[in-house]
Amino acid sequence: MLAENLKDVEEKILEACQKSGRKREEVTLVAVSKTKPVEMLQEAYDLGIRVFGENKVQEITAKYPELPKDIRWQMIGHLQRNKIKYIIDKVEMIHSVDSLRLAEAIDHEAEKKGVIMPVLIEVNVAEEESKFGFNREEVLNFIVEASKLSHIRIRGLMTIAPYVEDPEENRMVFRQLKELSVDIAKKNIDNVTMNVLSMGMTGDYQVAIEEGSTMVRVGTGIFGARNYSRQEKETES
Ligand SMILES: *Cc1c(COP(=O)(O)O)cnc(C)c1O
Repeated sequence: MLAENLKDVEEKILEACQKSGRKREEVTLVAVSKTKPVEMLQEAYDLGIRVFGENKVQEITAKYPELPKDIRWQMIGHLQRNKIKYIIDKVEMIHSVDSLRLAEAIDHEAEKKGVIMPVLIEVNVAEEESKFGFNREEVLNFIVEASKLSHIRIRGLMTIAPYVEDPEENRMVFRQLKELSVDIAKKNIDNVTMNVLSMGMTGDYQVAIEEGSTMVRVGTGIFGARNYSRQEKETES
């Protein structure tokens, strides 16, 4: 099942790249493995996947020692400040910086571990009540402040688009995030680049790629539906 799913996702990524005149190498597939057992991640690894996304600290710390060391872990979920220390030396990037206090705490833990942490700023483009992230108007001021922190590097923006039936409904959300990243890039803020746009999930990653996504986060499309009956809710990490 995994092999077929991956082939299907890969074809759709390629199709979206071709449709929008982009190169396949411009888009990184993040396999979102939350709630899935390590055996399944190993299977995906054996099929060539190296970039995995998780939204809970406990899952990263549990899976990390069980799997090969060349995996590039991505923290994609809401992060609590007191848990940063458990993942700071394990993840390649934190996609979900949603407050100055969190940015400062990541900076602090990174300094303690002697690392520089790449981060993305989460933007609540559709301004949904239930979602974390900055509103579009707040992002620039925040980035100017956070760019002064010496042990994080802002690499771009991330959004979780609304759940929709028709992915076309999210096209404007993706376009607006892209425009925002272009506007911020033009400000040439020290230590800030806008090379990464983490947007697009199983339901809408093709549209996201057409609108400029450089990282699509695909869970269900690769690993199948998640079963939460035995799991805690996925919103808090
Ligand atoms: C779960 C999750 C995904 C993947 O969702 P699917 O619809 O299963 O592809 C992507 N991004 C974030 C932040 C998630 O929490």
